[in-house]
Amino acid sequence: MARILIVEDEVALASALRRGLEDERYAVDVSHDGEEGLWAASGEEYDLLILDLMLPRIDGLEVCRRLRADGRDVPVLMLTARDTTADVVSGLDAGANDYLKKPFDFDELLARVRALIRSASRATTSVLELADLEVDLAGRRVRRAGDEVSLTAKEFQVLEYLATHAGEVISKTRLAEAAWARDDYPDSNVLEVYIGNLRRKLDRGRDRALIHTVRGAGYVLRAEAAGA
Ligand code: CA
Repeated sequence: MARILIVEDEVALASALRRGLEDERYAVDVSHDGEEGLWAASGEEYDLLILDLMLPRIDGLEVCRRLRADGRDVPVLMLTARDTTADVVSGLDAGANDYLKKPFDFDELLARVRALIRSASRATTSVLELADLEVDLAGRRVRRAGDEVSLTAKEFQVLEYLATHAGEVISKTRLAEAAWARDDYPDSNVLEVYIGNLRRKLDRGRDRALIHTVRGAGYVLRAEAAGA
């Protein structure tokens, strides 16, 4: 699942964007000033930043410059209330990938968001394979031994993270952080329910299980039995 950070000081606009994007199944965090935004974007992995140009404390251009100077290549969609060529050029010079002038249509924003996330992920593999499991990240489809497995959006997000890190033991905390927004982390028993559902759908009735519990540590997706 794609994670988006919105850095926007207009609280109503930020909330409306968050709701709209969450409806599209993105995990969304919001920062209301440049300093907080820079801190969030430097500390966590996001697939996209929606960055307002005029922000308190550190403006959008400076946030973008500092992220690029720091080697962060997360796609940045700059929002600008002004429409002068100079602003657009400064934004792109600072390292923004695209820009949108306020006021904008939500559908227009969504189209840009999709395009930016798509182009950023095009470089990476879109179908992950482990034994007879195939996880198609772009098509959001899953097959086991050729059989289509139907997952809910959230189950897919959990599996996506495990599959992207196959062979690696993932703690519940890390899994929660990867698949849920910051202020929406699930209880550990909720996470267990998702893992239980995935096991039922992917592993039940199969010769070998792929989802393993590593006691006290978390979960791992791998073809061999845990502890083997
Ligand atoms: Ca602003």
